[in-house]
Amino acid sequence: MSQPLKVVSRIRLKNFNPEFTGGMDKERAREATVPLCLRIGELQERLYADARRSVIILLQGMDTSGKDGVAKSVLEFVSLSGIETTNFKAPSSEELAHDFLWRVHQAEPRHGNIGVFNRSQYEDVLVARVLNLVPKSTWKPRYAQINAFEKHLTENGVVLLKFFLHISKEEQAKRLQARLDDPAKNWKFRQDDLKMRAHWKEFQTAYEDAINHCSTRFARWHIVPSNHKWYRDYVVAKTVVDALEKLKLKWPEPKEDLSKIRIV
Ligand code: AMP
Ligand code: MG
Repeated sequence: MSQPLKVVSRIRLKNFNPEFTGGMDKERAREATVPLCLRIGELQERLYADARRSVIILLQGMDTSGKDGVAKSVLEFVSLSGIETTNFKAPSSEELAHDFLWRVHQAEPRHGNIGVFNRSQYEDVLVARVLNLVPKSTWKPRYAQINAFEKHLTENGVVLLKFFLHISKEEQAKRLQARLDDPAKNWKFRQDDLKMRAHWKEFQTAYEDAINHCSTRFARWHIVPSNHKWYRDYVVAKTVVDALEKLKLKWPEPKEDLSKIRIV
């Protein structure tokens, strides 16, 4: 079975098929994913006991790409107290009064926890660039600033896993249409999503640049084929398990001789 992709060189998104399923079907993917998700639950407990490191699952992707959905599936068996989720929205006036990484650094999870970044620092080189919210002279240097920031985090105990949920424009059309047709999904529909959709090409270019400039040895980008939700969940779960297993987390040694303690 092919491994989730780890980008190490220059990529073109058009060479990545969002329909890709690695030869799996829905049933096999689900069967493989559940044990991975259970394992994430166990490994987070060790991460917490060890209390020296944290993990960030950073999710980017066009609207409807499944950022909420994948977090919900993959973290199903993780203790709620071990998860810190941050949804990065358009910056508040307070956030705009600081440098763009200020709010991101504040969202760093405590040691022992898994942080979910639903959008992230990358919005500042994605939407900010595509909608001209800031001039090029402001967004261009941000790639290097982001790399320096991510290097700092990873040298200080943070494991940073970055996922681009790759869907096709046709798949987005289907999912937006479902939001219009299904009364239970109507609330998710935003006119703004259509405005963003109109800039599809520019967003793909901006994503390509972000992936190419910011796939570093300490924090690589993973491009996740996401037209099929079950394959998307499998790839993310597998990547998270592999990263956590690599930490070789052991239960901490007791600080005193527990065999001498009597409970009366
Ligand atoms: P949603 O994730 O659908 O709730 O939407 C959040 C919105 O906030 C998206 O349209 C993002 O593009 C926008 N957003 C997030 N971060 C930034 C940012 N740094 N600058 C401008 N817009 C942002
Ligand atoms: Mg949205």
